[in-house]
Amino acid sequence: MAQQDTEQSVNSEFIVDTEDCEERELAHRERGTSRPITVVGNPVLHRECQDVTEFDDKLAELIDDMFASQRTAEGVGLAANQIGVDLKVFVYDCMDDEGVRHVGHVCNPVLEDLPADRRVLDDSNEGCLSVPTAYAPLARPDYAVVSGQDMKGNPIRVQGTGYFARCLQHETDHLYGQLYIDRLSKRERRDALRQMEEGTPRYPVVAND
Ligand code: ZN
Repeated sequence: MAQQDTEQSVNSEFIVDTEDCEERELAHRERGTSRPITVVGNPVLHRECQDVTEFDDKLAELIDDMFASQRTAEGVGLAANQIGVDLKVFVYDCMDDEGVRHVGHVCNPVLEDLPADRRVLDDSNEGCLSVPTAYAPLARPDYAVVSGQDMKGNPIRVQGTGYFARCLQHETDHLYGQLYIDRLSKRERRDALRQMEEGTPRYPVVAND
């Protein structure tokens, strides 16, 4: 019983993802290989990904590749299906409300329900590497908590404010097959897709059939 109590109190704490960001991000991407980004229309982006069940070297290599790909594409977050891998894991390198940098990864993320007083909506612009060159305003809570596991399978919780809260929600959505444009009105969605048609991505993408 005492043991379990200890575990529960540890599990309810948030991980520290603000320390040694520079070194950790660099180490990941130097080990990894950058891969091209899948874009809207690719089936892997439009269905729920598989749960991570093997916390092995292969998963660690995937996370390294995701950091390398995220850097090439100059993203602040990247889900595995954005490099064509059908697994529930995302990485992030993102600033919060106060300009503090967060670097980390989450396997099997689940967004926690927020108490009503934390549901303050922010309608800033959102964009996605899988909808290149398009942006649209989208209202989301400006605070988010994601629980999941790290690459060793340990339970973790991550909290974010501002742009980082948006990132945590956006990346979790990806792993359940949802793009931010799916949350827009029909007209706004059409407009975002038109921006994408007219633009040219600044990073390698996977052509759709
Ligand atoms: Zn995205």
